[in-house]
Amino acid sequence: ALPVVAVVGRPNVGKSTLVNRLAGTFRAGAIVDNVVGITRDRTYRSAEWSGVHYQLVDTGGLVFDDSEGLIFLPEIRAQARVALGEAAAVVVVVDGMAGWNPLDADIVRFLRAEFPLLPITLAVNKCESEKASASQAAEFWSLGVGEPWPVSGIHGSGTGDLLDSLVEGL
Ligand code: GDP
Ligand code: MG
Repeated sequence: ALPVVAVVGRPNVGKSTLVNRLAGTFRAGAIVDNVVGITRDRTYRSAEWSGVHYQLVDTGGLVFDDSEGLIFLPEIRAQARVALGEAAAVVVVVDGMAGWNPLDADIVRFLRAEFPLLPITLAVNKCESEKASASQAAEFWSLGVGEPWPVSGIHGSGTGDLLDSLVEGL
């Protein structure tokens, strides 16, 4: 089976847009498998970069609850755990336009605690402007997961460098 790359992040950071962009680099991102989950479906998209074939799986966004701090809704948590449990690598997506958010650090802590061996590639999405993107991305060094890669899921910019880094770990 092809290695699975799970894409995680807060809601609305652009995970689905980025998955569509990355999968679009191979046979229009043919859907290779559909898994009907407990309450949500996971769709696996085929992708290829530098001759490395893999599958992308989008996960539900993490959901913030005012009273509880960061939580996954139980069904989303279950989906994310299944996707992460079978993953060979994970892309953490953050929002470069919105800037640093403590929930991003919570997500990284969750990954480190529950999936300590999973290589993390950090995508700083919504970095359309090349001038702004370097500084937008730099603040995410503080997450402690290595180089923050500025990308735009909408425009496709930066995805080559992100993918170079990602497939290195596959
Ligand atoms: P998800 O909830 O993480 O899957 O996020 P979506 O892919 O659904 O995108 C959430 C919102 O962000 C949508 O309005 C997208 O159009 C927007 N968005 C996604 N990627 C980009 C990007 O690269 N640049 C900008 N400016 N907006 C984006
Ligand atoms: Mg989505």
